[in-house]
Amino acid sequence: MTEERKDWEKVVAFHGHSCPGLAVGFRAARIALRELAAERDVDEELVAVVENDACGVDAVQVLTGCTFGKGNLWFRDYGKHVFTFFCRNSGRGVRIAVKGSLWREDDPDFQELREKVFSGTAEPEEKERFRRLQEERTRHILTMPEGEFCTVQAVQEEIPPKAKIFRSLTCAFCGEQVAEHRARWREGRPACIPCAQEPEKGCKC
Ligand SMILES: [Zn+2]
Ligand SMILES: [Zn+2]
Repeated sequence: MTEERKDWEKVVAFHGHSCPGLAVGFRAARIALRELAAERDVDEELVAVVENDACGVDAVQVLTGCTFGKGNLWFRDYGKHVFTFFCRNSGRGVRIAVKGSLWREDDPDFQELREKVFSGTAEPEEKERFRRLQEERTRHILTMPEGEFCTVQAVQEEIPPKAKIFRSLTCAFCGEQVAEHRARWREGRPACIPCAQEPEKGCKC
């Protein structure tokens, strides 16, 4: 099995299924690692900025090691298929913008079928047709020429320092620990966000 094939299987195992969105993240992550001449992240040397929270982000996490938990996966909720990666060691960055033609927006038959499947009204044979089309599209995304898949641009941007360790405070209202930078104040005492937002109790009349 090739390295690429092994990586794809890892990504599918993590995500739970093979799909076109996963293929998009897979290609973007591989291009980024190549462009930055980087290996999978160990200690937050890499940073991934993802502009969507779709399937592809799982592939980015597995391949680049930029993860939500480590704090070097930054989500910007722009609804765009754009992935930007930075390497702290080399100071290099690369922006990968996926081209729109991948989404079959211009194919009304496919869009109708998709809607049926997602709303649970599709017949078994329609589901099967959808599955086959998705499989085809996944393969297409994985094998199409890179220039058709995306644009690749070098970027320079100041990246904030590595995630810091924060102190914890005790919420004066529920008694649970809360990271200092997330604590709020309520009635002059430290509070966690849920407690700070809790409406005043008692009769207000
Ligand atoms: Zn998926
Ligand atoms: Zn609390």
